[in-house]
Amino acid sequence: MKNKKINMEKLVNHCKNMGIIFPGSEIYGGLANSWDYGPVGVELKNNIRSLWWKKFVQESEYTMGVDAAILMNPKVWEASGHLASFTDPLMDCRSCKTRHRADNLIEKHSKGSVNADKMSNEEMESYVVQHKVACPVCGNSDFTPIRQFNLMFETYRGVTKESNSQIYLRPETAQGEFVNFSNVQRSLRMKLPFGIGQTGKAFRNEITPGNFTFRTIEFEQMEHQLFCKEGDDEKFYDFYKNYSMEFFKSLGFENDVLRFKDHEKLAHYAKSACDVEYLFNFGWGEINGIHNRTNFDLSRHQEFSGKNLEYTDPATNEKFIPFVVEASYGLDRITLAVLDNAYDVEELEDGTEREIMRFKPSIAPFKVGILPLIKKLHSEKAHDVYRMLSKHFRVMYDETGSIGKRYRRQDAIGTPFCVTIDDETINNQTVTIRFRDSMQQEVVALDNLVAFITSKLAEE
Ligand code: ATP
Repeated sequence: MKNKKINMEKLVNHCKNMGIIFPGSEIYGGLANSWDYGPVGVELKNNIRSLWWKKFVQESEYTMGVDAAILMNPKVWEASGHLASFTDPLMDCRSCKTRHRADNLIEKHSKGSVNADKMSNEEMESYVVQHKVACPVCGNSDFTPIRQFNLMFETYRGVTKESNSQIYLRPETAQGEFVNFSNVQRSLRMKLPFGIGQTGKAFRNEITPGNFTFRTIEFEQMEHQLFCKEGDDEKFYDFYKNYSMEFFKSLGFENDVLRFKDHEKLAHYAKSACDVEYLFNFGWGEINGIHNRTNFDLSRHQEFSGKNLEYTDPATNEKFIPFVVEASYGLDRITLAVLDNAYDVEELEDGTEREIMRFKPSIAPFKVGILPLIKKLHSEKAHDVYRMLSKHFRVMYDETGSIGKRYRRQDAIGTPFCVTIDDETINNQTVTIRFRDSMQQEVVALDNLVAFITSKLAEE
């Protein structure tokens, strides 16, 4: 069952103090909705990304990976519809001049009982007036009409800032997979159904406050597009719903903190769409979207590029534009969910508390803490052990403070195993392993240490 001991402020502080996530550009006062991963956080994020790649690309019989450019020909965003309609409905408070998303104002005001996603701009405006929705900053209820604000970051290539030199930072990675459909299909002679997977940065000019790394202006996505024949699409849609849940379970989530939420208002091209939501300390929030996008994307790219993106069925010679089932994951949001889920405060028998991140060992940032019992006597041998283990695992060396304090520090960053180097190591070539969750200890021969930790990591 989910522990209730955490709120976002506590998690933000813990992440900062333990080198997991820092506020972006902090020494200059920060930049709203931007965060930097520290030495512990970068390992966690890398591990989650690798697990995703393993599950969605490596273990799939029909998926290939790509790494497409962030900056793309601007026509891509015309074809995808982002230039025309990737917008948020914004209202400005006339009293305090702050800017808000109309849908968020309504959802907050109605405590989630009204789904603003289903409302038109006119309906949202009249709801705000009729219900005297108050500005969350100053409390007055005097808003401008809604303006649609495009979320894409614009930039310019070359020396002049003219409209023909305008380009965009990609707001999603998916288009890099669509525009390479034919390249991947032809170069590797792929037959339908086949998938293209990609991870990488995306950028959105988000105005609303972010709930830590839940909503940021720069974030990483992990996206998988499955190209198939019409008729097979719903089968793959169901498959990826289940596959997503399997992926989330492999990260250590239990059933009670995950749920599907079907989209009530489908995009005009979508046949089916749902989100996977996680129960964050602030409530349910989307971590993954699964969409049956029909043949919309490739049809639009065929139309706007003038290139033929049809697939020819080798058995029947039939030509058609494939359907796409998309599974889209936010790496930073999933990392936040993993942090939120793992954080625990345990009361010990002696009445003290220990902070512990209960990561599954496979995604724990550091697998082993290497702790010389007495710095003067054991640090040389401990460095030998560091060199041996670091060839196999991400390990951390720590010789500062009492052994008890060092165990606590490793608990607080979720290191599943601590290896203590003492006189026995020097005289008998053995170490003591202490387990994070049970705090029990076991003596292991140095010769057997790599195999022992490998087998423990494989146990989960
Ligand atoms: P939201 O409704 O929260 O704005 P979305 O429906 O626009 O999200 P998608 O476009 O489906 O999100 O993007 C896929 C995934 O990318 C989301 O499930 C989420 O995990 C992640 N994501 C989207 N926007 C952000 C953001 N601003 N910051 C961090 N992660 C994001």
